[in-house]
Amino acid sequence: MNDTACEVLVVGAGPAGSAAAHRAALAGRDVLLVDMQDFPRDKTCGDGLTPRAVHALDRLGASDLVAADAGRPEIRGLKLHGFGGSVTAPWPAHPRFPARGTAVARSDLDNALVERAVASGARLSTGVKAVDVDTELVRGARRVRAVVFADGTRVRCRYLILAEGVRSGLARTLGTQWLRGLVHGVAARSYCASPLGDEPWIHSHLELRDDDGVAQPGYGWIFPLGTEGTHGSAVNLGCGALSTSQRPAKVNVRKLLASYAAQCRDEWALGEPTHVASALLPMGGEVTRVAGTNWAAVGDTAALVNPLNGEGIDYALESAADVVDMLPDADHCPDGLRHMWPAHLRGRYGDAFSLARRAATLLTRPGLLSALGPVGMRGPLAEPLMGTAARLMGNLVTPEDRDLTARAWLAAGRLSSAHDRFWHAESRPLFGV
Ligand SMILES: Cc1cc2nc3c(=O)[nH]c(=O)nc-3n(C[C@H](O)[C@H](O)[C@H](O)COP(=O)(O)OP(=O)(O)OC[C@H]3O[C@@H](n4cnc5c(N)ncnc54)[C@H](O)[C@@H]3O)c2cc1C
Repeated sequence: MNDTACEVLVVGAGPAGSAAAHRAALAGRDVLLVDMQDFPRDKTCGDGLTPRAVHALDRLGASDLVAADAGRPEIRGLKLHGFGGSVTAPWPAHPRFPARGTAVARSDLDNALVERAVASGARLSTGVKAVDVDTELVRGARRVRAVVFADGTRVRCRYLILAEGVRSGLARTLGTQWLRGLVHGVAARSYCASPLGDEPWIHSHLELRDDDGVAQPGYGWIFPLGTEGTHGSAVNLGCGALSTSQRPAKVNVRKLLASYAAQCRDEWALGEPTHVASALLPMGGEVTRVAGTNWAAVGDTAALVNPLNGEGIDYALESAADVVDMLPDADHCPDGLRHMWPAHLRGRYGDAFSLARRAATLLTRPGLLSALGPVGMRGPLAEPLMGTAARLMGNLVTPEDRDLTARAWLAAGRLSSAHDRFWHAESRPLFGV
């Protein structure tokens, strides 16, 4: 890149960055999207897209990327296994979210989203790492003037959207701090050839054992990837665990993945796990500062991952669209995005994430899952109970929902959030300013 200028500079071309670049370009802004990697590139992920993610893609006008006629699998819901039972939980019927999910290898999905952003008019520069920001004081407010890249070039911008994912180097420079002591995830994924790539259910194993049969913290997943993607007829097989500073997950997720694959091999006619990779997941908005006058963090950089299912692609897409839609207001506000963006995130996700963090933290208590598991997974109440759990864990509840479950969940979210604000406002300034 040569020294240049743009109106909206987006750092990071994962789902959050590409979606932001696409939407800003469509809104007529002059956009530059940069990523330190060349595309197509892999991203450690389960590749699962629940109805919330399919809806977010639809809002971006990109649902064709995951349509069945594009060779993407039609996933109808979850099959949960463990504690002596197996339960099927179809996606719930919902006025906003479709009753369909899918799974797409990230190398395919992210590349398609980048191409979409470029087709909408965004400029793209890949293989360049952003390393620093240059700020200035304008009428008492600190603004980002330019971003500096590893090759020494500088890009001046009016707005900076930080979509760097979990590593978030620039965001840290600007004061974004990930509160890792709270609940977060550690997970590993692999690709395995399987003739069952078009199985229409996501499978989740809630009870994992190592090679010696000893129960391990965490859960396993098998997401069918269809038969025509980059990996042929294949599944994404992985496992993850929740961790807090009080109760760190003492588990080697790569080793556990190998045991899990071996246990599922016969049933799924699995090939050897390939592309094994592990990573941490920031969750539940557990970051301190997500915006300044002319910059905002989106996606994983703002810890927008659901603590109850590890999903972040949908929140990456949603937050990208939301921040771009906010720019016309920020254009006319002396404070810009500084207060507006965290307030929006708190309003949109604060209650749900607060409750999900609390529930996820509870799940790190040894013995709790093995005590509750048999109740939820066996007997006549298993199907309705798990159907409800799948809906709540997928955050497939909106404020407009009037049914009893939704109202109880929304009320519990408000209570949880109020408790956080009252007791932890100082120590845990989530989505802080
Ligand atoms: C093992 C695992 C399984 C998961 N499974 C699922 C799942 O099944 N479904 C789901 O919805 N979510 C899942 N997630 C979470 C999901 O992967 C993330 O939430 C999602 O990728 C966030 O998107 P993003 O655009 O914010 O960041 P990313 O996808 O991480 O993209 C960030 C981009 O920024 C670039 N970048 C970073 N720093 C710089 C820099 N300084 N300069 C230039 N470029 C930079 C990177 O190269 C990268 O391309 C999983 C995560 C893990 C770890």
